[in-house]
Amino acid sequence: MEFIRKSYIIFILAIIYINPAFSQDFTYDRKIGAEAANEVEQMIGVYPDSALTAYVNLVGQRLVNALGDSPVEFNFHVVDMAEPNAFALPGGYIYVSRGLLCLINDEAELACVMGHEMIHVTKRHSVKQIKKSIIPGILHIPGAVVGMFNSNLGKIINAPVSIGTELFLSNYSHKQESEADKYGVKLAAEAGYDPNKLAIILERLSGDVELLTGEAEKKSYFASHPYTPKRVENIEKEIPGLELSQKQYIAEDKNVLYGHLDGMVYGPNPAQGIFDSNIFRHPDLNLAINFPDKWNTVNVPVAVGAAQPDGEGQFFFIVDNTNATPDSLGKAYAEQLEKKFNILPKENSELDINGFPSWMVSVNDDSGDQPINVLVYWIDVGDVLLNVMGVSYPKHAATIANAIISTRPLTDDEKQNITGLFLRPASILKNENFSSFSTRTNNTWDEKTTLLKNGLEADLPLVEGQVLKIAVKEQYFSF
Ligand SMILES: [Zn+2]
Repeated sequence: MEFIRKSYIIFILAIIYINPAFSQDFTYDRKIGAEAANEVEQMIGVYPDSALTAYVNLVGQRLVNALGDSPVEFNFHVVDMAEPNAFALPGGYIYVSRGLLCLINDEAELACVMGHEMIHVTKRHSVKQIKKSIIPGILHIPGAVVGMFNSNLGKIINAPVSIGTELFLSNYSHKQESEADKYGVKLAAEAGYDPNKLAIILERLSGDVELLTGEAEKKSYFASHPYTPKRVENIEKEIPGLELSQKQYIAEDKNVLYGHLDGMVYGPNPAQGIFDSNIFRHPDLNLAINFPDKWNTVNVPVAVGAAQPDGEGQFFFIVDNTNATPDSLGKAYAEQLEKKFNILPKENSELDINGFPSWMVSVNDDSGDQPINVLVYWIDVGDVLLNVMGVSYPKHAATIANAIISTRPLTDDEKQNITGLFLRPASILKNENFSSFSTRTNNTWDEKTTLLKNGLEADLPLVEGQVLKIAVKEQYFSF
């Protein structure tokens, strides 16, 4: 599903991984990396564009070849993340986000960023990952309740974690970042890419942040995030010592590069489901859910849910990969509660949720300081089965139940109104200025944004035949 409201993400725990100096090979790195890669898939999601991923992978393989003998098996992915970002996981997992690819105007820029990330892996820079909770202020859940959850949902409710945008940008030391810059540009140069492009893409990233936030990058932007001008200054010192052997790019010119980006989603991906104030709509699952007003919502690939702002209740929907029916699952669950925990459900019944065959079990747990109400639903929405679980103080139980039973198919109107922004390359026609170009092409970016994304100076005139990346609003479903 995909998380939309980043502001509700808060830090809870620190440091889950410190690379051990004693380890002789990359076995440990690979193990820890594979676990984290799984979490990236569940919490951020991989962008399912195989042609684009294949292109990114080709650039990566060229860097791998330049690296020569290495115990690391690199693999390259595009993450379904709107923010510009690139990060590495131990063991050789390299990720670039959609948001970063939107900013790329030259293959060498991409290669320099990827080279930088690869050096973090080969130099085994220890990553202090900061785990974040996807929703704040979870009420204290008594032990008996915890035992009731199915493993996937339990994992989300009990230890809600997410990998956020800032995570991998801000958690290397300055020394490690300089090292990754230094050897990253060296690697890019050895692979036949212009090492000067790292400074260029870093400055564009900084400009993009400035455009989004309306504020110039501050030194204190992230406590441990190196200040871009300082970083650029240091990178520029490295360049004269490098041997440049510019090779033919994989995307031989800008048009081919933009062709790879053609059709890529910009901003939130409607395919992951979208919140429109408190209404959640998921086009591929053909579902709409009315979430409670003013609750904090979260949407990640594996779950969508909400929490009461004071942390007095929360509920999550997950897609249950099973062929079983709601009644068989509900009955089995109620049986287990009695057998394992000696708990008799308050309710254990079949119901119809807007035409979807469903089952619900509710339980009151009095084992903790305060009574806790647990609601579990199984909803057969056609192609998949939804498993929903809510935990709250009894006063919020009705609000949660009302939200769950609001689950319904999308109306035709809603389907027509699901839109997204898509990256499209478009050529400037004769005598066109920016405004006439944007009107003709339905470009939703303003001039400043368009110029920045395309890496163009403000005072350069547009030339006939010049191709620009633009963002066009398009319907998700074609009718
Ligand atoms: Zn870095």
